[in-house]
Amino acid sequence: MTTALFTHPDCLNHVTPPGHPEQVARLKHVEAALAPIEGLDRREAPLCRDEDILRCHPRAYLDAIAGSGAGQLDADTWMSAGSMMAARRAVGGAVAAVDAVVAGEVRNAFVATRPPGHHAETAKPMGFCLFGNVSIAAKHALDGHGLARVAVIDFDVHHGNGTQDLLWDEARALFATSQQMPLWPGTGDPSERGVHDNVLNVPLAPGTGGIEMRDAYERLVLPRVEAFKPEMILISAGFDAHAEDPLANLMWETDDFAWLTERICALAERHCNGRIVSVLEGGYDLNALAESVAVHVRGLTAG
Ligand SMILES: [Zn+2]
Repeated sequence: MTTALFTHPDCLNHVTPPGHPEQVARLKHVEAALAPIEGLDRREAPLCRDEDILRCHPRAYLDAIAGSGAGQLDADTWMSAGSMMAARRAVGGAVAAVDAVVAGEVRNAFVATRPPGHHAETAKPMGFCLFGNVSIAAKHALDGHGLARVAVIDFDVHHGNGTQDLLWDEARALFATSQQMPLWPGTGDPSERGVHDNVLNVPLAPGTGGIEMRDAYERLVLPRVEAFKPEMILISAGFDAHAEDPLANLMWETDDFAWLTERICALAERHCNGRIVSVLEGGYDLNALAESVAVHVRGLTAG
């Protein structure tokens, strides 16, 4: 069984202003880092259908984003002429990855697309994100394929406020997330637990390195996911907790992402035949991003 890689050149046409950290070059560096990895089942991320987006967002919001054209949506979030197409590939890639994994065509999948998604709330673009790619994929696994339980693990350095919003009242989804605190967007306190106690927030202090991260995952995140017995694990794979990242202050090294990937794969092996769909979120130091994505995807191919 193999690992699928979903991506599409349309995701290079989501253009942000000069100096913006969520830049086209990110995906180019990711593609270059993944090019030498053999044995990946390389696929095009398809365009999603409206119905996919509507699993998590109201029609009025979809229409507003689709109709907004090039420009600035909030302090951090921009659209260019190609952004809507890129966003449809990002959602479509995550949904297609779920389809491929559930069908047993591949063991697991990585979705290398942009814009990212974990800050997009129900009716609000935010933090470089337009649609909740991972939340939509989770709902697709639950409602489209009839899975009983899915877990979303988010190791991006920023809190996945959008995923938390979209899955807040979804009893069939566990959202387990670590984030630097304090840090933008400011949410992610352990007291935020979801309607069904289905949200686990694990804040990490600035300066937290790999040893403390591994301890937090061993004590809190992994046991909680283990107890949930997910039928699929989705990952919001942001690599901005890396020590080199310019947007945050955690001190993880590339090896820490390899360790975390290996542990999540082992957990997936125990509960769901290794079924994992991992979706790119943040990561803004181009070299650290490329290195970290490479060890993550190599870990998936080994898992
Ligand atoms: Zn981030």
